[in-house]
Amino acid sequence: MNRRTLIKLIAAFPFVSEAFLLNKNAASASEEKHLLPARWRARPGDAKWPKADQWQQLNLEVNGHLLQPKSLEEMFEKATASRREALLKNLENPYFRGDEPGLTQSAGWVDAWEAACSPYVVAAQNEKHVVAAVNFARENNLRLVVKGGGHSYKGTSNAPDSLLIWTRALKEITLHEAFVPDSCPGMRSYKAVTIGAGAMWMDVYNAVTTKGGRYVQGGGCATVGVVGLVHGGGFGSFSKHYGTAAASLLQAEIVTADGAHRVINEQRNPDLFWAIKGGGGGSYGVITKLTLKTHDLPEHFGGVSIQIKASSDEAYQRLIEHFIEFYSTKLFNHHWGESAKLNPENTLSCGMVSCGLSEAESQMIWKPFLDWVRGSPQDYTLNKAFIGAMSSRHWWDADWRGKNLARTIIKDPRPDAPPEHVYWTDNQGEVGVFLHGYESLWLPSSLLKRRNQKRLARALFASSRHWSVELHFNKGLAGAPAEALEAVRHTATNPAVLDAFVLVIIAGGEQSIPGLPGHEPNLSEARANAQRISNAMSELRPLVNHSGCYVSESSFFEKSWQQAFWGSNYDRLKSIKERYDCHDLFIVHHGVGSERWARNGFQRIT
Ligand SMILES: Cc1cc2nc3c(=O)[nH]c(=O)nc-3n(C[C@H](O)[C@H](O)[C@H](O)COP(=O)(O)OP(=O)(O)OC[C@H]3O[C@@H](n4cnc5c(N)ncnc54)[C@H](O)[C@@H]3O)c2cc1C
Repeated sequence: MNRRTLIKLIAAFPFVSEAFLLNKNAASASEEKHLLPARWRARPGDAKWPKADQWQQLNLEVNGHLLQPKSLEEMFEKATASRREALLKNLENPYFRGDEPGLTQSAGWVDAWEAACSPYVVAAQNEKHVVAAVNFARENNLRLVVKGGGHSYKGTSNAPDSLLIWTRALKEITLHEAFVPDSCPGMRSYKAVTIGAGAMWMDVYNAVTTKGGRYVQGGGCATVGVVGLVHGGGFGSFSKHYGTAAASLLQAEIVTADGAHRVINEQRNPDLFWAIKGGGGGSYGVITKLTLKTHDLPEHFGGVSIQIKASSDEAYQRLIEHFIEFYSTKLFNHHWGESAKLNPENTLSCGMVSCGLSEAESQMIWKPFLDWVRGSPQDYTLNKAFIGAMSSRHWWDADWRGKNLARTIIKDPRPDAPPEHVYWTDNQGEVGVFLHGYESLWLPSSLLKRRNQKRLARALFASSRHWSVELHFNKGLAGAPAEALEAVRHTATNPAVLDAFVLVIIAGGEQSIPGLPGHEPNLSEARANAQRISNAMSELRPLVNHSGCYVSESSFFEKSWQQAFWGSNYDRLKSIKERYDCHDLFIVHHGVGSERWARNGFQRIT
């Protein structure tokens, strides 16, 4: 891989006494917080940093699973030339990155964060290990971070000088024919799946869909962690039909800051249960397990891959306008998800997916649009026009794809990798990315009304002059079935998602390795691109009267992040945070309650 390539990303029941105590602590803790110094947690070298015998004791409690991982710099420092080559190759593999306690999927973000390796890591094998680590961090006033799949764009699963709880080994997956959440005797049963916190979506799809013939709402990217995605709300390619991943949550197990291991659902700790459904990762405790409803599979899933190049700015503007009209009349419904991209070179690329439509049905739907394009050969060149469908059961079937659609997947090349460990070719550009900028914005469905379409098209064209603009239709839920919308309404995700037809994402970065000579990011180019990305989004902001955007795919520098990520849900989330973590053991950048700790709202909390 050319590591300097600039890429554009596409890609309750609480016990009364316990509740009382938690509230009481919250009051005294918030007074205390304002008195704490900037260096608020013990660091290596500090007198209060645990002594060797204390770490040894923790290691005993976690049955020898306390690790002292190597940072990337250390791995390279000691490596021979051939080992360095092999390591560089491995860094292109998202599964390898996920298997290393000291690595993250993104390399960092210009002027925001760079991946840091924790000096100590508890590689938890069960919830007892998590309890031991949480108690140790609290009692010794350590900076605590939690990592699952390691895909946080904002670097919230790593922090320098921290103790890391790493859930990678908690990957058990169990399917249920009739799951009833604990202490909910009157509740109906659901077909469901219980998933260990360290599982990746590809493992879940393999168990639930390929082997089990059911659907589970997860993420688009195969190697994203299950808990991180659900904690953010979580969108997959077919979310326009099934809603967010969080909306399917039936039950979770979580270790809270007091060291209690709790089973939570709509009856037990319902406030905390609601908060973890979209309230942001790493802020309320460590989830060890969750159970999600599974859904019926439709007969078909399908894909559309179209690329149209316009010959002039005027023709491009007409194309954008026509595409919006086509989208609003033919695609604005639960059958159609994923994205379209408008780039500065006057190209429209559609990489969309269909749910519940046969190939013939999809081709009929797209025909008038393609006829319109083909009718003006002087204005448009149709570089690609593929429209297909397949048995939905094979969508995540690595074996079937390997034989029939091999170009769409890349296999984990390591000899001992499980055969189902593949990832989308389209996600390769995101592995190890050092971000220059990443902004998102939900656009309301009212912009699709005929009278607003021209204004929307003009703004999108203006935006595309600065940077590529991606329209993620599956991450705005207007057009989804009423049942899916109702379930999402009961999550902590910003309600703006319900009326948004699309999440616009404008982002870019380069694959590089900060700190490694010859592979370092180009910071001046990164800053210039960050400005271009910001300028591109500025063209769209006047279209909306809110700043609503998706917490897991948004800017590190979001100004009004509380409103932008959670809207009217923020105050409730903050009071739940106070209740369960009044001493802020779990704190992440722009996470609920973090404003209390950020000396400057745009600096990383260390
Ligand atoms: C390449 C790529 C593709 C993506 N594709 C999608 C997509 O298709 N749809 C989508 O919605 N999002 C997508 N995202 C965003 C992704 O959903 C979020 O970044 C998500 O938080 C990642 O979860 P993780 O476990 O992999 O990451 P991590 O970095 O491990 O965790 C993310 C956050 O959750 C916290 N967390 C992790 N595990 C736990 C736990 N057990 N208990 C409590 N907190 C925990 C971490 O502390 C951190 O704050 C993508 C991101 C990347 C980098």
